[in-house]
Amino acid sequence: MAIPGEQPFHPSGGRSTHAVTPCDILIVDDDPALCRTFPRVLGRPGRRFDECASVGEAILRLERQRYDLVLLDYRLPDATGLSVLEWLTGRAREEAVILISGEDTTDAVIGALRGGADDYVRKPYSVAHLQRVVDNALHKAALEAANRAMSQRLKASEQLHRYLVEISPDLIFTLDAEGRFTYLNPRVSALLGYDRQSLMKQPFASIVAAEDLERFEAQLSRPGRSFTLELRLQRRHEDADRRLGDGVTVSLTAIPMEHVDGPLGPASGLYGVARDISERKRAEAIISFQAYHDQLTHLPNRALFKDRLELAIAQARRRGGMLAVMFADVDRFKLVNDSYGHAEGDALLRGIASRLSESLRRGDTLARLGGDEFTILLPDVERPDDVESVARKIIATLGAPFKLSRADFRATVSIGIALFPRDGDSAEDLIRHADIAMYRVKRSGKNAFRFFEPELNSHHHDRIRLENELRLAFERDELELHYQPQVSLSRKEIVGVEALLRWTHPALGSIPPSTFIPVAEEIGLIGEISAWVMECACRQLAEWRAAGHTALRMSLNLSPHDFGHRDIVDTVIDCVRRHDLPPAQIELEITESLMMNDSDGVAAKVRALRDAGLSVAIDDFGVGYSALAYLQKFPVSTIKIDRSFVRELNGQAGNPIISAITGIARGFGLCMVAEGVEEVGQVETLGDLGCDVMQGYLFARPAAAEQVGRWLDGGMEAMAD
Ligand code: C2E
Ligand code: CA
Ligand code: CA
Repeated sequence: MAIPGEQPFHPSGGRSTHAVTPCDILIVDDDPALCRTFPRVLGRPGRRFDECASVGEAILRLERQRYDLVLLDYRLPDATGLSVLEWLTGRAREEAVILISGEDTTDAVIGALRGGADDYVRKPYSVAHLQRVVDNALHKAALEAANRAMSQRLKASEQLHRYLVEISPDLIFTLDAEGRFTYLNPRVSALLGYDRQSLMKQPFASIVAAEDLERFEAQLSRPGRSFTLELRLQRRHEDADRRLGDGVTVSLTAIPMEHVDGPLGPASGLYGVARDISERKRAEAIISFQAYHDQLTHLPNRALFKDRLELAIAQARRRGGMLAVMFADVDRFKLVNDSYGHAEGDALLRGIASRLSESLRRGDTLARLGGDEFTILLPDVERPDDVESVARKIIATLGAPFKLSRADFRATVSIGIALFPRDGDSAEDLIRHADIAMYRVKRSGKNAFRFFEPELNSHHHDRIRLENELRLAFERDELELHYQPQVSLSRKEIVGVEALLRWTHPALGSIPPSTFIPVAEEIGLIGEISAWVMECACRQLAEWRAAGHTALRMSLNLSPHDFGHRDIVDTVIDCVRRHDLPPAQIELEITESLMMNDSDGVAAKVRALRDAGLSVAIDDFGVGYSALAYLQKFPVSTIKIDRSFVRELNGQAGNPIISAITGIARGFGLCMVAEGVEEVGQVETLGDLGCDVMQGYLFARPAAAEQVGRWLDGGMEAMAD
């Protein structure tokens, strides 16, 4: 039965504009004449009448079906109408009941009303009165039914909300005006190990880690304001030492309850949600440690060493002091690697690293540049003699043999030393000069140290020669582009190529880009080279597209120096337009170091390129400064996982950094390309980690355009030949 709706209700009913509401009425009366008149006087569209003449029959009918209303005679042949009432109330039935009493007995009426009847009509009744009483009873019954339905829905919705809050993976809570828990979902026990009841009425501050307490309370002391805060929460400990920081990092959002309209009007206190972000924090920490440390020895890497050196130079300059850079290279290290294997080589490097650090003082920095090369910064040197004694000490501590698993090995190092300000005043110069001095030691018998002397700088002459040759190379057209395929594992086809520069010198032979690009950057030739590369690669892509390879993507390497020029964005867009290429199929590879330094508005340029539809990839992702913050600021489309990580995948196990990187890429919705793939095992592991596009010698080496054209025409099989 439906509710009478919002229209006014007319008890007398005749002209009511209601929609027809079906409604069943049971008449229980042993007077056949009455039974016949009731339907006539009470009839309305939608009303249906059943009749019966005794308590027994009435109960039979009520057992079979539900009615909206029972018109119940008091005096019936087998018992009084009260028995029917009793039967109904005993079963908590919802039928409305109107008692028809012929008796003038007040007792019967009172008994009936007590027994649950809704109203009564006394015989002889007026038709109008009977109609009114019936209409009223039906109306009331309808309202009650609507009410019941409503409260059931409310209950269900309340249950649903409660359920959602209770199963939420986030911590959800309310605090009173004093910051004490008034509600807390059960998540707290899994997250922090507390029983939630035990925290009720406790201050939220009691689960905040000591180091974050002050920040939290500062926020809390500004009532009426929402805030979001990254915070460490303390796990429950029997003997809690809150300083030990075994905690969970959460992102906490708190909203004052005045903004939340509760059923009782605005409340006081806070409503809050805390999300566990420990995993993300760990990934960030791994990556940021990774950015500044060497994976094998956990020593600072080149980037961190350079940072510290630059800082130390600035300080030494200010106080007019001296500092030293040592370059230490392990002698005959290749021999260990080749004869005992990489595992032994790694163990030896770790051993050497730890002996080197034992020879140093607290403020000194020992770094591993890569391979068997270490650098040492002594930031505060009084006289060159001090440095000499450190060098002697290093050589002495290495005197005792290292125990390798198959043999003992006596490691020695060759050390070159450069002093600030005598031998240079920039980090690069000092490292290079220490390196040059180290080479001298190598050539004259190893296991010794030597200070830099200016005449050692013969590299200098090579360098000037290279510069001149490079300028000529560009004029003489000795540069060429090669292309290396990028294949999609799932699609089993070449989806892109990376353009790589090649320089073949008529006398010196082929010179690798890692040698000449830094020179081009320094002498200001890189801008022209990049423009040439762009032109050449776009022309080539247009050619391949004309040959039917319309989905092919072309990746180009840009130098950070290109971003110093205002017109890089226009140059790129102009070139892509001129060759009528879809911009998304040109991918510009930029390095992480570029993102570190935004002095030239690099982010804005990257954004402009992206807005123009070009793809942008971060090259060598993970080796440099990969921090999530940069990914947020730079709207790149792809990350290229550096070869050094791929190399470490050994088929069975993933690398935590690669999984962190792939997780991040997925989180930011970025494409991934793995570079330097050389082994089948690496392909499998990368595939498992969700990286589909790969580039490396396993598939194809960079090759000239004609060769790549044949691969494109012949598909993946063609590359195998
Ligand atoms: P990159 O951008 O990281 O390029 C990938 C390098 O890895 C290429 O070296 C490629 O030949 C090499 N490679 C590809 N697959 C494998 C593999 O499976 N194993 C190993 N070990 N290496 C692999 P390449 O051509 O010597 O280039 C070196 C770097 O020079 C490039 O590194 C890039 O930074 C720079 N470079 C090359 N061409 C250009 C260019 O046109 N413009 C600029 N600005 N830089 C360029
Ligand atoms: Ca590249
Ligand atoms: Ca790369």
